[in-house]
Amino acid sequence: MAERVIPLIDQRSRLLAVPRGAQLLPKSGQLVDTLGRPLRDLRISVTDRCNFRCSYCMPKEVFDKDYQYLPHASLLTFEEITRLARLFVSQGVHKLRLTGGEPLLRKGIESLIEQLAALRTPDGEPLDITLTTNGALLTRKARALKAAGLKRVTVSLDGLDDAVFRRMNDVDFPVAEVLAGIEAAHAAGLGPLKVNMVVKRGTNEQQILPMARHFRGTGITLRFIEYMDVGATNGWRMDEVMPSAEVIDLLQSEFPLVPLEPASPGETAERWGYAGADGRYDPALGEIGAISSVTRAFCGSCNRARLSTEGSVYLCLFASQGYDLRTLLRGGASDDEIQSAITAIWQGRTDRYSELRASLPSQPGQASARRVEMSYIGG
Ligand code: SAM
Ligand code: SF4
Ligand code: SF4
Repeated sequence: MAERVIPLIDQRSRLLAVPRGAQLLPKSGQLVDTLGRPLRDLRISVTDRCNFRCSYCMPKEVFDKDYQYLPHASLLTFEEITRLARLFVSQGVHKLRLTGGEPLLRKGIESLIEQLAALRTPDGEPLDITLTTNGALLTRKARALKAAGLKRVTVSLDGLDDAVFRRMNDVDFPVAEVLAGIEAAHAAGLGPLKVNMVVKRGTNEQQILPMARHFRGTGITLRFIEYMDVGATNGWRMDEVMPSAEVIDLLQSEFPLVPLEPASPGETAERWGYAGADGRYDPALGEIGAISSVTRAFCGSCNRARLSTEGSVYLCLFASQGYDLRTLLRGGASDDEIQSAITAIWQGRTDRYSELRASLPSQPGQASARRVEMSYIGG
């Protein structure tokens, strides 16, 4: 077995100055990048901290008691986040996803949600606001999140077996509490609910069928995510990736599935519906999603930007550098100046890492060692 190399590098300081002087778009114009992709989706990381230590994301050996998290003063305030979100919305963003780290650890997150929920698109439409969480704090927070204006949540859950789950979160957290959190979110009306399962070969693939049995027919969409080579600390190896095609074959051995159309442009998940006795999709049984981030790149329709906890914009999950908007914000820039920076950043975007993965260097010490962590820019 190949040895794991876990480089210990702080990658948060490599920031790019924002480009200046781009023209503001006319109100009707659509902002597109160099590959013609519009900007529609903004993921906002509200904290770099987490109460779990999933080995594929924040391995204990790196994120230990000596790890230096960002000081509070570095974090964007809720007012700063809302201002930037508003300016991104004016440039075409329709969907906001709060993430992290564990977003429910950010104190007063409900008040941020309230502020974001008041934003409107240039056409006066409310935004699609959602949040990705490990579910540990959902039982306590679901109702307040809903009351603050959150529409729905996605809960990450990598297995139903308690021992497997405790091992994967690596802080001995019981699966029953996450399942209770999912129930609480459902009861609070935070739907349609999605559950994300990262499949790591040799670790939790035996949980695929039990998870499908558990969520089939509940109205909750289970989505299987290929284990990705994000960041530089998870010791990623291709032989631990279980391709979605294999996951679908395994599911088909027990449940007949039929392919469904994408729900929206830029949708990352391939959708499959459970078939009823007549062999056709039965909406009462629901659907599953397969996110083939490694084996089937979807860069061609990638319309997502990421705002890091300290206010830098990253144009790709696998980026090694971000654009520092916080300096602009705190330096007293006007809305027009920040909007024109966002325009220039997006217009210069060339990123399509997953399409190029096979031809790029992948050993730590080369490209992967410079990538930022997912807990910092948000998944
Ligand atoms: N803490 C929250 C959670 O776990 O839902 C939000 C942040 S987490 C970084 C966002 C999503 O990224 C989770 O669904 C997680 O499973 C996924 N993720 C993290 N590392 C990953 C990896 N190496 N490959 C695939 N998905 C990963
Ligand atoms: Fe925390 Fe989410 Fe990363 Fe797991 S995937 S360590 S819950 S941020
Ligand atoms: Fe988007 Fe980058 Fe993922 Fe491609 S690799 S889909 S550009 S985030």
